[in-house]
Amino acid sequence: MSSPPCCPLCTRTDVSHFANANDVEYFTTPDTFSFYRCTGCDIVFIHPMLFDRLNEIYPSNYYSFHASEADSIALKIKNFLDDRAFRSITRQIPGNALSALDVGGGSGWLLDALKRADPRVTHTTVVDIDAGAEDAARAKGHEFHLTPVEGFKTDRQFDLILMLNLLEHVPNPAALLEKARGLLKPGGRIWIKTPNFDSLDARLFRNRSWGGFHTPRHFVLFTRESLIRHCQEAGFEVLQCKYTQGAPFWTVSAINELKLLGLADVSANRPSLKNPLTPFFHLAFAAFDFARMPFSKTSQMNIHLTLPSR
Ligand SMILES: [Zn+2]
Repeated sequence: MSSPPCCPLCTRTDVSHFANANDVEYFTTPDTFSFYRCTGCDIVFIHPMLFDRLNEIYPSNYYSFHASEADSIALKIKNFLDDRAFRSITRQIPGNALSALDVGGGSGWLLDALKRADPRVTHTTVVDIDAGAEDAARAKGHEFHLTPVEGFKTDRQFDLILMLNLLEHVPNPAALLEKARGLLKPGGRIWIKTPNFDSLDARLFRNRSWGGFHTPRHFVLFTRESLIRHCQEAGFEVLQCKYTQGAPFWTVSAINELKLLGLADVSANRPSLKNPLTPFFHLAFAAFDFARMPFSKTSQMNIHLTLPSR
């Protein structure tokens, strides 16, 4: 069997069991996975970590491989908020021609939105493991590198690096942060979005395959405090770290509950995201999270990083 659980960040083995969970979204494996918490790092990590079986755990119908021009109301609202967020970050970066990198960016749909939001963005690069996204990305003018980010090589440095819903997918987030530091121009910005396991829905569904576990595709999860600390330890200045709505996690959790009650049909061929209730749940839970955000910890976080001056 596999080796004992060991924290992927500090390598301690005196970790505590946090939860068990299954793939309740895509059903890529029938196995039950354990999540452990490292009290030293205050992170939660999956065990075993299937970093050498990515082809199995990311099925061909995986959402980010197709998340392009979907036209639901929820996505339109999300796009509007993304545009606003892009403008608020790029206006902090000086220069007439900006270069941007989207790690895990698929066909480059976020970079398209970024270019719309700020016309100074003239060079765009995507790094992704999805071969199916390559042609679409190149057709839209993005440089495309078909590789896990760990193997990405370039002479270029970037003004803006996007790592949205990515950090939690890699076996060694500290190594990724270090790599990103080398890819960032002085004065540039990194925008990371990642789950927060210290949230209401994480507590409610902790032992019911919480959507934020995204089992077995999320390897490492943070809290706001542990995310900030690890980014600082990687040599970054943290400009801001804010909670944002966790509707996707609520929705997966809620649909799994309906399935357990025999009220929803979810399977490998009918993944959670394709359920007819999903758009409704996304809207309702996003509204719920936005309403309580001023006074509660929601289950996703946006953090903006830069390099310390000198
Ligand atoms: Zn640790």
